[in-house]
This record gives sequence, structure tokens and C-alpha cells, in this order.
Amino acid sequence: MRNIIQKLMRTQDASDQELLQLIQTENREIEQYLSVCATQVRERSYGNHIYIRGLIEFTNYCKNDCLYCGIRRSNAHAYRYRLTKEEILSCCHMGYAAGFRTFVLQGGEDPWFTEARMVDIISAIHKKYPDCAITLSIGEKSKSEYQSYFDAGANRYLLRHETANESYYGILHPRDMQWKVRMQCLQDLKEIGYQVGCGMMVGSPKQTPELLLEDLRYIQSLQPHMVGIGPFLPHHDTPFRMEHTGSAKQTLRLLSIVRLMLPHVLLPATTALKTKRSDGHIKGIAFGANVIMPNLSPQEVRKKYMIYDNKAISGEEAGEQILMLKHTLQAHGYDVPCHRGDWKGD
Ligand code: SAH
Repeated sequence: MRNIIQKLMRTQDASDQELLQLIQTENREIEQYLSVCATQVRERSYGNHIYIRGLIEFTNYCKNDCLYCGIRRSNAHAYRYRLTKEEILSCCHMGYAAGFRTFVLQGGEDPWFTEARMVDIISAIHKKYPDCAITLSIGEKSKSEYQSYFDAGANRYLLRHETANESYYGILHPRDMQWKVRMQCLQDLKEIGYQVGCGMMVGSPKQTPELLLEDLRYIQSLQPHMVGIGPFLPHHDTPFRMEHTGSAKQTLRLLSIVRLMLPHVLLPATTALKTKRSDGHIKGIAFGANVIMPNLSPQEVRKKYMIYDNKAISGEEAGEQILMLKHTLQAHGYDVPCHRGDWKGD
């Protein structure tokens, strides 16, 4: 299997059969080799730099009912909140002082945040922090809305494709959500000129290695700038409450495969991976990740943005504890630069 990994590293490609073997392998030496090669490729693209992004979870209201997600609209037990523009700006203020130069506005699909309100917020951040990148992660919108946000100063957009398979999309989502719409959104975002991120959960209910292979093929065809991959973790107030958590090891293998396929990709060691295992950041990086997204939301709302149970919100996941994260990273030989950390491909 080493030769498959070498081929992947050399050509950014492998056959379906070969990829399926890598996705499923439980051979420690092969996993180790994946990690070594992914690290090498990451270093070639980004040296020893790990980029940080300040995550601002500004609303947990959501009009969607994704079966896996704790803030789905039919979860009547969720305590709903919205941050005001002033609160969002004060998160940026705190983050800027701590050294963050990317702000990620993430939220449920909350109709209260109309196009005009979002444009107002994005413009205000852009004006106050012109040296910072603004990333949005607020779901499916029309192309003209995406364009308005881009014109207002947003640079990047995270919209996980969730799955590249239309019928599996129907298992994870209610009928009123359509896979084709999600695919169209990702195309639109790319056409507008955003740095775009897609991604998927690993180990969600009824997911097979073949489905993950389809995700990899989709990622290859979209050629996104960012890919978010984390283990599925159940939330007690969702239809998937009794399902198993996704495997951290399989998540790590997928991170390294994606790094080898897209040498310049911005690849976070996700909060979900950190929640699943306490060395999630360091392991994620060892398998090719180069981004960490600590939380800049006000302390009192962090518990409310619970998309899955036991979400890590303290320690190295907390924006105000950035020094702790930096120390851990430095102890492992990584540097955290104080700039936007843009994609370094062509
Ligand atoms: N509303 C935004 C942000 C969603 S939250 C959007 O639609 O893009 C960001 C990601 O968290 C989701 O895309 C999903 O892949 C992941 N997520 C949601 N619930 C999860 C769970 N139970 N376990 C692991 N990841 C989950």
C-alpha cells in the first residue's frame, strides 16, 4: 500500500480500488506512512505554519432540519440566541488583539439575518479590519446574495457539501433540502471568486467507504481551497441520538488523503476531531491539517451552539486561550503567523 501513497503523492490521484483501501486500512504502519507523507506535502506548501481562524457563532436559529444537527429547527430544547452587530464586532475586537486575522461568521440559516443586515455587518468588519479575511458559513443562499456579501468584503465561504451522493443526502436531510441546490451553491461561490470550502462528516449513519470515495472524487473535481472534515458525533435531541460516533482514525486517514490530493488545501483540524480525542489538533496536523479554528463567541453563548454533544469549547478551542494553543503548537515545532493565511495555490 506504500506504493499507492507514493503514487497519490506524486500524481494527486489513485484508482477507486486503491483509494478504498486507504480509506479503510487499519494497518498502523500504513497509517504512519500516510501521516509522514501528508506532513511532507503540507510542509512543502506551508512550511511549519499553522493558521488560526477566529470562529464567531453568531446565531443558532435555523430554518433547516438536518437530521444530524443539534440546532435543527425542530429541536425545541435548544436555547436560541442571536448576537447583535455590536457583539459580533466586539468578538472581532477581542480576536484581533489576540492575533487573529481571519474571522469566520458561522450560523444556522437564520432568516432574521437578511441580506441587508448581513451586508451591514460584513461591511462594518471589513472597514474596521481591512487587513483581515472574512469567512462566511451561513448556508445556502442565492447567487446574488453571495455576490452582495462578496462585494461587501467577504473573501471565503465554507459550505460543506455533506455528501457527494444524492440519495445519501436524502438520508441525512429532510425532503425540503435538495442535494442539487447545495451543489449549485458551491458552483456559484466558486464562480463569484470566493475561496471556497466544502467537506463532510466521517462515520455518519449508514455511510460506507464507497460514499467517502465519492466525496473524494467530488473534492477532486471541485478543487476547493478548503476542506472541512470531522467525525460525526450524535446529539441527544436529534433523530440520530442513538447512532455511533464516527471514527477519529478514519477522519485522520481522510485528512491525509485530501492533503495528498490537494497539496495546497487549507485543511482544519476540526473541533469535532478535538472533541472526539483530546489530542485532535496535534494528530490532525500530523495527518496533514494546517488550520485551527478557535472559538471567539461570547462565553455565555458557546454552550448554546451545540451542533453535537460535548462540543469542545474550552482550553485550546477557546479564542481567549490562544496562548495555550500557541504553546502546544510551538512545543511541537509549529509557528502561528499573524496574517490572513490565504490559500497558496496558483
Ligand atoms: N448552517 C451552516 C453551518 C453548519 S455547522 C451550513 O449549513 O453550512 C457546520 C458543519 O458542522 C456542518 O456542515 C456539518 O457538517 C457539521 N455538523 C453538524 N452536525 C454535526 C454532528 N452531529 N456531528 C459532526 N458534525 C456535525
